[in-house]
Amino acid sequence: MMDSRSVRQILEATDDHIAGIMQLSKDILYKKIPAVMRDKLVNQALKIGRQTARDIAIEYGTQDPILIAKKLGIKIEEVSSKSFIGNILLRAEYVTSPPTIRLYKNSIFWLIGTITRLKLEDIFPPEKIMAIHVAHEIFHHIENVKIGLVSKCYTVNILKIGPIHIKSEIKSLSEIAANAFADTLLNLKVPCGMLDYIIIEEIKNAVKKFS
Ligand SMILES: [Zn+2]
Repeated sequence: MMDSRSVRQILEATDDHIAGIMQLSKDILYKKIPAVMRDKLVNQALKIGRQTARDIAIEYGTQDPILIAKKLGIKIEEVSSKSFIGNILLRAEYVTSPPTIRLYKNSIFWLIGTITRLKLEDIFPPEKIMAIHVAHEIFHHIENVKIGLVSKCYTVNILKIGPIHIKSEIKSLSEIAANAFADTLLNLKVPCGMLDYIIIEEIKNAVKKFS
C-alpha cells in the first residue's frame, strides 16, 4: 500500500511552480524546450492562470466555479462512461460547441476514494474535488472564447522539410495555467496539479501489489 505519510510530505513541500515544472516535464515536447526557457514558461502560465481567476471572481462576484460556469453559459454534464487519454482515465473535459464541461463522475469518485483512504482530506477536501475539475475546465473555455490558448505562447520546431518548419504548441502550458486558475479560485493549499501525482503513485502501487 502507498505510504500516505511520504505522499503527504511531498504534497506539502510542493508549490505551484514545482507542480508546473512536473507538468511541463511530462509534455511530449519537453526536451525540445531549451532548459533556460522552462522556468520562464511555467511562471508565465501560472501568472496568466492566477490573474484570470482574480479577474473572473471580480467580474462575476463569486469564486464558486459552478455559478461561474452557469454565468458563462457553460453546460455541466455528468457522465458515467469511461474515457481515456493514453492509459490515464479522463476525469473531466471541455467541449467547445455548445460549451460543455463533461465530468466523468466514476473517475472523480475513485479519486475522492483514494484521497479519503490516504487521509489527505485536509489537503484536498472531497467536497471541493468536483469544483476543482469544473474550475480547471472553465479556464479552457476562457482560453477558447477570450484570452487565446496559453499553449500557443511558445512553439517549438517539430519537423523541417526543406525551408519549411513545422511548429507545435506546448499543450502542458494550458494545463499549468488551468491548474493555477483552479488553485487561485478555490484557495487551495496544495496545487491541484498534484492530484495527478496522487493518481500516478496509486497506480504504481497497485501494479506493484499485483505483480
Ligand atoms: Zn486541462
